[in-house]
Order: sequence, then C-alpha cells, then structure tokens
Amino acid sequence: MRAFVVETSAGVTDWPAPEAAAGEVLVEPILVGVCGTDLEIIDHTIDPAYVRYPLVIGHEWVGRLAHDHDRLGVAGTRVVVEGIIACGDCDACRRGDTNRCATYDEIGFTRAGALAELVSVPADVVHPLAASVSDEDAVLVEPMAVVWRALTRIPVAAGASVAVVGDGTVALLAAHLSRLLSPAQVVVVGRREAQRALAVAAGADEFVTTPPSTTFDLVIEAAGVAAAVSDALALAARGAQVIWLGLPAHGTTIAVAPDDVVNNDLIIQGSFSYTRRAWAQVVERVNRGELTPSFLVTHRFGLEDAAEAIRALRAPADESLARGKVVVRVRD
Ligand SMILES: [Zn+2]
Ligand SMILES: [Zn+2]
Repeated sequence: MRAFVVETSAGVTDWPAPEAAAGEVLVEPILVGVCGTDLEIIDHTIDPAYVRYPLVIGHEWVGRLAHDHDRLGVAGTRVVVEGIIACGDCDACRRGDTNRCATYDEIGFTRAGALAELVSVPADVVHPLAASVSDEDAVLVEPMAVVWRALTRIPVAAGASVAVVGDGTVALLAAHLSRLLSPAQVVVVGRREAQRALAVAAGADEFVTTPPSTTFDLVIEAAGVAAAVSDALALAARGAQVIWLGLPAHGTTIAVAPDDVVNNDLIIQGSFSYTRRAWAQVVERVNRGELTPSFLVTHRFGLEDAAEAIRALRAPADESLARGKVVVRVRD
C-alpha cells in the first residue's frame, strides 16, 4: 500500500499493508487532517517518549470499514477512530481519566496512523458515523474532542462571557464548541486579520487583534506561545476559569503575579488530549448535526501530494489568506 512514513526522511512510499490482530478491525482512511504535532513528529522535536519510528503518521481522520463487523456495521460504513488506546484497567482509566492512562499508546504516534491506504485499529475505539455527516465535518472530531474535554472538565455556567486567545484551528474550534455552553458572548483575540471570517464562521461575536480591556468569565488560551498565555491571564475576570490548551515549546516560562491569581480567585486549568467520554460526546453531537466545523477546512491535497500538505502547514504561501485545517484525501 501507499503510506506517509516518517523515519530519518518523511514522505509517501510503498509500505507493508497491516493485518488485523485479535480485536482489531481494518479501516480504509478517506480524509486525514494534519497539524503542528505531525510537524513535530516529522522534525523529531516531539518528546521521544511519545513516538515510535518508523511511523505512518495521521491521527485526525475519517475512514470506512474494510470489512463487515458485528457491532460496527457493514463494509463501507464510515467511522471515526479515537487515537488514544487506553488500557481500561489502570487507576486513571477506572476513574474515566483515560487521557492519563498509565500505558501511553496512540494511533499515529506509537502505532501506525491513518495517512495510508489501510490501517488496523482496536474495534472498541471505532465510532460509526451517521450517513448525513460530511467527511470534512468528521475529520475534525479529534481536535474537537481535545477542546471539548478542556471545556467540560469544570462546569461552565450558562451566560458566561468567553474569550479565546489564538486564531489557529484549535482556537477556532474552541470558539465553535464554546457556543454549546450557552455563553453571553464569545470574543476571539487573534493575531492575523485574515482569520476574521473563519472566527465569525466559528461563532465568534467579535474578532479582535488587540486584547480588549474588558475581562471574561472563561478564557481559553489556544495559541501556544508565552505572550498569549500572559494575555489569557490578563483577560480573566475575578472568579474566572482560565484554560491553557495551547502547547508552548518545552521550557517556555511566563511571569505570573501570584497575588493577582489569589485575589482574583482564579481557576487555572491545563488540559491534556481527550477522554473516551469527551470523544463519545463529540461524535454524538456531530451525528446529530449540532457540530459542523467543516468551514475550517481551507487546504486540500491528495495522498501523493501529502508532502505539499506538510509544506502548506509549515509555511503559508500567503500570510494575507485565511488558513484553517489542511487535509489530505486518501480516497473518495
Ligand atoms: Zn493533531
Ligand atoms: Zn489505563
């Protein structure tokens, strides 16, 4: 089969097709999103504990069953697949914190991913899609699950004012999903004017490129750079919840005034990946048509041009054009 393989070099090549082990099901990828984490894998800048080379990348995807399956449906049924393979048995898993499973194993990181003609995955992480769901909505389930877990870790009261710092895919999805919390207002604090239309499509009431002087009940940092983390703290109202969702380079530090955090009664919350519960809730909403993030897809490539997709992700050809999700179509 053809697959995008990363070792010392990275590109589409011939690669042995997988066979299904016990409890696994073969899935034919249809559409695969690429993201900054894929770049870290390609560049070998990712923490080596989280990756195993040589590796077929691809962790944001929609595919179809390659064969009939008792529970999942007939061959051709379209599915999305959780990336994290939690053991289900450790203390964290038993509490439902499957994102912190004692054994780290993830499709597209420690085992073969979906940027290939065929992938074998455990059947219990596979979720069938409703026929009405488009491929471009479904391909965004994985990053939506990451955002949804962060938004639901601590309950947010209806009527909250929400600020999202950042204007990349995760930030725009945070704006989109925060609408499900019945907020009074959602403001996206971005960097590039070109992202305005995407932010509005995501459901932002306002898009600004200078941080406002007002404060917010929920502030989501999704830019992943030190300045944005500081901006997020400055935007927090008394009693606010501040979610750190972006991932700055390892070793990044920021200045914090701890007395402000105490006096303002702030909750500062990190969030790692997604739980099985968050994933299932996102799939439910996608299947019901309540989440339609496909407006975010702006760049499309074919499998043989996947290297170009990676280039587009790395360096936008034109900074004045909007850039949302970069996707690779493996088959129709
Ligand atoms: Zn990703
Ligand atoms: Zn576990």
